[in-house]
Amino acid sequence: MRLARQSSLVVAVAVSLSALAQGQGIDYAKIEILTEKIAPNLYILTGSAGADPGHQDAAGGRIGVLAGPDGIFMVDAQYAQITDKVVAAIRKISSEPIRFLVNTHVHPDHTAGNANFVKMGALLFAREELREEMLRPPAPSAAGSPPPARDPARLPVVTYGMGDPVKLRMNGEIVDLIPVRAAHTGGDTMIRFENADVIMIGDFYRNYGYPFIDTNNGGTLKGALEALDATMKLAGPNTRLIPGHGTIINRTDIVPYRDMILGVQARVQQMIREGKSEQEVLAAKVTAPYDAKVPGGLLPAGAGTSADRFVSMVYSQLKSGK
Ligand SMILES: [Zn+2]
Repeated sequence: MRLARQSSLVVAVAVSLSALAQGQGIDYAKIEILTEKIAPNLYILTGSAGADPGHQDAAGGRIGVLAGPDGIFMVDAQYAQITDKVVAAIRKISSEPIRFLVNTHVHPDHTAGNANFVKMGALLFAREELREEMLRPPAPSAAGSPPPARDPARLPVVTYGMGDPVKLRMNGEIVDLIPVRAAHTGGDTMIRFENADVIMIGDFYRNYGYPFIDTNNGGTLKGALEALDATMKLAGPNTRLIPGHGTIINRTDIVPYRDMILGVQARVQQMIREGKSEQEVLAAKVTAPYDAKVPGGLLPAGAGTSADRFVSMVYSQLKSGK
């Protein structure tokens, strides 16, 4: 009897945490779009804090807007429910048409608004892998009802694989779409603005919560570490690196982040060698030396804290030899 009660409690907690991971509980009406000018014609749009349980510090993923007489180039599309607010913020910057949109990766906080912007005339660029990730059938709902039909306009029109960056020249800027080998997801892109000396790096780095490597969408731990190294090489001492979430950083900020991943990886590898199970590794709280320096690290994320999600990912990646 006691056991049964406990397990129903566990189920209830697991259900509410997975609802959180799927972006439920977001108060879209409460989200405001904050605009920051970071170069003469480059702007960053961020959702306000306190409305998105999965991203308490700032709702959704960051948007980049390159404006000028050649039209608008945009990085990422935020949640579909707040497209009107994003468009209103863009219209305060420029009245030119939104011509190009690129996705840093597949997650809905970066892509759910795609179809809205495509219908306004934007040409959508992304990795071929991202397009494949988007085409995968969605999981049926818990109630067993079929998933809602998806708008084909959400899909990238121009796709590219690994290899040389795709370059766009407009508004006096050279924009490089730089493919990243399987890191946060299997279809990551960094967007570099050469003259502004800015790189929008997506989500393989984050300073709010522990690293999230989405292995279900092709992300890998090894690829994330490679992406961090590549970013440090690509960036100059003054290059501003803009993650999808959290604060804007320089290349030196990547060093302690990479060292934290390597530290946790070494601890987990050691415990695997000692024959420890995933539960034992989680119970050992291997992130403890870093917890004080990772805001949001002990908040719920998926089926546990973001620290647990990270440690489980490291465990399964090392266990499967990735
Ligand atoms: Zn994100």
